Amino acid sequence: MKNISLLGSTGSIGTQTLEIARQYNFNIVSLAANSNFILAEQQAREFKPKFIAMFNKDAAKELKIRLKDTDIKVESGEEAVIEAAEISGSDIVLNAIVGIAGLRPTLAAIEQKKNIALANKETLVTAGEAVMQKAKENGVKILPVDSEHSAIFQCINSKIESKINKILLTASGGPFFGKSKDELKNITKEQALKHPNWNMGPKITIDSATLMNKGLEVIEAVHLFNVSAKDIEVLVHKQSILHSAVEFCDNSVIGQMGMPDMKIPIQLALTYPKRICCNTEKLDLTKIGSLTFAKPDTDTFICLKTCIDAINAGGLKPAAANGANEMAVELFLKDKIKFLQIGELVEYACSLQKNTGSYGLEDVFLADKAAREAVLIKAESFKK
Ligand code: NDP
Repeated sequence: MKNISLLGSTGSIGTQTLEIARQYNFNIVSLAANSNFILAEQQAREFKPKFIAMFNKDAAKELKIRLKDTDIKVESGEEAVIEAAEISGSDIVLNAIVGIAGLRPTLAAIEQKKNIALANKETLVTAGEAVMQKAKENGVKILPVDSEHSAIFQCINSKIESKINKILLTASGGPFFGKSKDELKNITKEQALKHPNWNMGPKITIDSATLMNKGLEVIEAVHLFNVSAKDIEVLVHKQSILHSAVEFCDNSVIGQMGMPDMKIPIQLALTYPKRICCNTEKLDLTKIGSLTFAKPDTDTFICLKTCIDAINAGGLKPAAANGANEMAVELFLKDKIKFLQIGELVEYACSLQKNTGSYGLEDVFLADKAAREAVLIKAESFKK
């Protein structure tokens, strides 16, 4: 029996996690979400957690009224989300919050010595060194949920001792792989929100279309696997069947394949070190026919290059890249900027971030804020 705290329960990863919990009868100790109180109520009635955090105050108020016939405690705000992460009785926290909002809850859970099943890649992008250090100090495992990192984790976890030559991080390429800057000029949010292979929340779907997602994943991999960005090769693999691979020092390449279904890595993160049988669709390679690989076009998709430059520079640059991107994606989804301007804004805000030596958590949040503000000001200038 697994006892799970699930943060971001109403989103794409959150709801798939609950499908797994339903199937295997996992115990849900606490839930957290932002504002979707209607789904949170359904989840509360089905899974009977002892505590639910709604970041949004009005949503928490409404949920409290709706759940007054139950013993479930409902609270609001960031403190409540942290309480959901820290709650006693859970052995693992699956963090599927979107954005830097996931960072403090991850750190709080680590301090309570809970293992982390991490979907919230922004946790590692913005404060990877501090998070990995804290995990080490507390003897806590950070188990990747991201399919690529789950694949790399599985490749590395063989009993054979070997040095790693490089990580082959695959990318679907999103809906616009192969298109020129000219063809991308007038891309609408509706077009960008149609991912060819994965059904995900809106922010990560836009990140996939700009290749920012792959940039964030390079940074995530640097921290998770203690490698440098030059040891990671990004490969566009349109079929999303090889979820990533590792080249070892004898030039053997070991990869992990499967149908593109997030339930597989979510389940493994929850049941590690065991695999449990699963009724997801089986991979039939004869149906897939061929697997293709290509280099990404970083001149057109500049977010990927900006992220690689940011992690190479280190310090607060990755936090700035992430904050700028969160703001730029929000503006794009509100039709306030054009598709290609997301990359321009991320690059611009990142260039403004000074590269400090040592820094603390508060500096991460300041870098995030400064990058968001820089994006807002620059986006205004686009209108002129
Ligand atoms: P969604 O947008 O579908 O879901 C986000 C979840 O976070 C929702 O439950 C939302 O609540 C909640 N949330 C947002 N802000 C807060 C907050 N401040 N406090 C508490 N909860 C909050 O995103 P995804 O599920 O697609 O992605 C989640 C994370 O997982 C991201 O970091 C993403 O990069 C990563 N990921 C996702 C994959 C996928 O297939 N979807 C694959 C790999 C990684 P509400 O619904 O109430 O707004």
